[in-house]
Amino acid sequence: MSGSIILTTFNARYTHTSIALRYLYANLHELQNDAHIMEFVINENIQTIAEKILAKNPRIVAVSTYIWNASDVKELIDTIKKVSPNTIVVLGGPEVSYFPIRVDFKNADYIVQGAGEKAFYELCGQILKGRAPKERIIKAARQNIKEIGLAYKYYTDEDIAHRYIYVEASRGCPFECEFCLSSIDERIEYFDTAKLLEEFETLWQRGARNFKFIDRTFNLNMKVANELLDFFLAKEPPYLLHFEVIPDSFPPRLKEKLKLFPPASLQLEVGIQTLNEEVAARINRNIDIEKIRQNVAFLENETHAHMHLDLIVGLPGESVESFGKNLNELCRLTKSEIQVGILKKLSGTTLARHDEEYGMIYSDTPPYDILQNNLISFGQMQKLKRFARFWDIAYNSGNFKETITLLWPNGDVFGAFYGFSEWIYEQTDSTWQISLNRFAKLLFEYLTKELKLDAQKVADFIVGDIARVEGRSLPAFLKEYASHIPEQHTKEGSKFGKRQQLWAK
Ligand code: SF4
Repeated sequence: MSGSIILTTFNARYTHTSIALRYLYANLHELQNDAHIMEFVINENIQTIAEKILAKNPRIVAVSTYIWNASDVKELIDTIKKVSPNTIVVLGGPEVSYFPIRVDFKNADYIVQGAGEKAFYELCGQILKGRAPKERIIKAARQNIKEIGLAYKYYTDEDIAHRYIYVEASRGCPFECEFCLSSIDERIEYFDTAKLLEEFETLWQRGARNFKFIDRTFNLNMKVANELLDFFLAKEPPYLLHFEVIPDSFPPRLKEKLKLFPPASLQLEVGIQTLNEEVAARINRNIDIEKIRQNVAFLENETHAHMHLDLIVGLPGESVESFGKNLNELCRLTKSEIQVGILKKLSGTTLARHDEEYGMIYSDTPPYDILQNNLISFGQMQKLKRFARFWDIAYNSGNFKETITLLWPNGDVFGAFYGFSEWIYEQTDSTWQISLNRFAKLLFEYLTKELKLDAQKVADFIVGDIARVEGRSLPAFLKEYASHIPEQHTKEGSKFGKRQQLWAK
């Protein structure tokens, strides 16, 4: 048996690491000696990547496939198979784990569906022994996650120094929100927490301080959540932990622990999606509005956690007005980031059952986002997608944290920002490549010319926002209007500071 195995993927950014590749590698047993992880970033030159992979003369190339890299993966495997037809290409990952597979991956020799550590090892063994299976689609059998090898020692020192370290204490989710891939298998399984903590201790000793938990619902099993939080509470800050949480489950003991985390140490991604109970029920999402209000207010007012709340545009039966109401209510509860996501129709989910009744029309190419429904026309949906983009630049970035509030003196955040968003688009005809200084100028012009606010007041607000980051450059046009220019900003400064600085409570 001979031939090497390349485990590869395209991450969305250099700072992202693939825990999936490290898990596959960790479970290759005797095949590990001749296996290599090679990670790339989307939009790199595909032919150069194919050249780098083929230079290792691999027998098997396995590619981890996601919604964000599906097109790049297709081009890569098409290139590999053209120039090296005998190389066996195996695909795995969420984008190929459910039918219909909508990207044309006809050049993949095998597709492994489901959690693939064990199935991939067995497939490689069969291929390398000359007993390659006939079936192209391999449905991974259930595996006990307590028995699989852990991935953490395969983070390199460079990963630890410069990139996110993804970790997981559980896989799966017991809830059934129809738009979500995690709803397909309602089981939740936990890794052995004691073993995990040993691995985290090793990572900590090696210098890791940035741990991103990918568990879908961190605050479901309180025993595990408390053990993990205790582990980090015993450590000396600074460190940064990221957890995804459901908004309605914060029992008193968990709340007490969360209060103990120091500033800039905790990021919580809180899935809200909708606050419209009728819409939530329609997509099988159980929500308790009162608990959501209480818990978001608790996190906002009594902890140092930085929150990132998710809302979705385009759910079946949710109008623009209803979405606007959701956004306004969240903005009343918190100043944290609110991610405006666009509904996507993912293969394997049951979302399609609403297509006819609610006129749901989606794009057929990744990311399969909604184009229109019976309450939101294509034109309105386009406006809402631009709203989401400009909302990220102006609000979620934290760059104009105080200035932006001048847009909505009466608290109608959605209505006010919608008008602003449409106005910017008229000026720029683009939602991309708008520099921070240009955006500051657009914001200044809108507030002073369209809303007729006092120029000095607006300039002072923008200066105040920009001055919150050490050394950041001040747009030249402000000097004419601002009542005071801070000392450090009289010269063009250096790079922007980190997001945590901008959002520090
Ligand atoms: S949206 Fe969140 S709670 Fe709902 S199924 Fe997905 S992971 Fe679970």
